[in-house]
Amino acid sequence: MLSEFDLIKQYFRRARSSHSGHVVLGIGDDCALLAPTPGMQSAISTDLLIEGRHFFAGADARMLGHKSLAVNLSDLAAMGARPVGFTLALSLPGADPEWLEAFSSGMFALADQHDCELIGGDTTRGPLAICITVFGEIAPGHALRRDAARAGHDIWISGTLGDARLALAGYWKEIALDAESLAQAAPRMHLPTPRVELGRALAALPIAHAALDISDGLVGDLTHILDASKVGATLDIDALPPGPALAQQPLALRRRFTLAGGDDYELCFTAPASERAAVLAAAGSAGVPVTRVGTIDAQPGLRLVDAAGKAVEMDVQGWDHFSGE
Ligand code: ADP
Ligand code: MG
Repeated sequence: MLSEFDLIKQYFRRARSSHSGHVVLGIGDDCALLAPTPGMQSAISTDLLIEGRHFFAGADARMLGHKSLAVNLSDLAAMGARPVGFTLALSLPGADPEWLEAFSSGMFALADQHDCELIGGDTTRGPLAICITVFGEIAPGHALRRDAARAGHDIWISGTLGDARLALAGYWKEIALDAESLAQAAPRMHLPTPRVELGRALAALPIAHAALDISDGLVGDLTHILDASKVGATLDIDALPPGPALAQQPLALRRRFTLAGGDDYELCFTAPASERAAVLAAAGSAGVPVTRVGTIDAQPGLRLVDAAGKAVEMDVQGWDHFSGE
């Protein structure tokens, strides 16, 4: 049986340190030491994932390692921050070498893509739970804050929406989903891609705009921007880009899962209409497609319209059962 210290040494402490030069001291002491870039602000976020609530019991360990870090990096992306390092607090029912090997390799593969180093953590025995805290940095005044949306701004979405929710519907047998569609949609649920490059490219533009990552569904998450910015919005529900698997489903389901899916980890952001070319150039440099899906209004509340501009009444609140319930 592995001791706690052997376990840390074997699976989490690595010789390699990030190339950024920010990590002065990593795993092994009472604290890690970070050297911030002079003049930059720290961006810090944490997410707790609990077995049976945030992921299925028995979930694939490699994908879980990826997803645990991805949801945290997604928060840095939504702020426009550059990842620097992260800590990992793990509660484990036992020291299963196979699980630890798969989990850590999934996590480190994504960490290395973003030059984001594991700098410390805590390990304890208990029900399976994973808590990661990420540290990033951003130039003062550049963060993509939820309170920065203004009337007249365009509303943009990165990538596509709804395939993660479609996969969940397939697993839950909420709908009859053929095996091929499930296989196509499932990676969006298990292996989300944090839009770090896009967030950084948007934050680097010299324009004020708001952003967040869509984790609980577009309508619910966009409402956070509207509340923080004290504005309203009109969304063109037929402009919402469905994932490739969802695109083959009937219109009602497409609308429902793009509007209130969850687990997409795409960015929703706003920008002045005069900056469309700059936004498209930023997205191009990040290699992520972006779609304009609506407008920020001075009038509070969220209005849904179809492609013809006709108001559509939908009980979006009723679809909120995915947001961790
Ligand atoms: P302390 O008793 O001072 O809290 P620990 O004995 O818990 O320290 O941990 C020893 C070292 O290993 C610390 O540097 C800590 O940050 C690191 N560590 C513990 N668990 C993990 C983990 N799951 N991932 C990464 N580092 C960890
Ligand atoms: Mg400790």
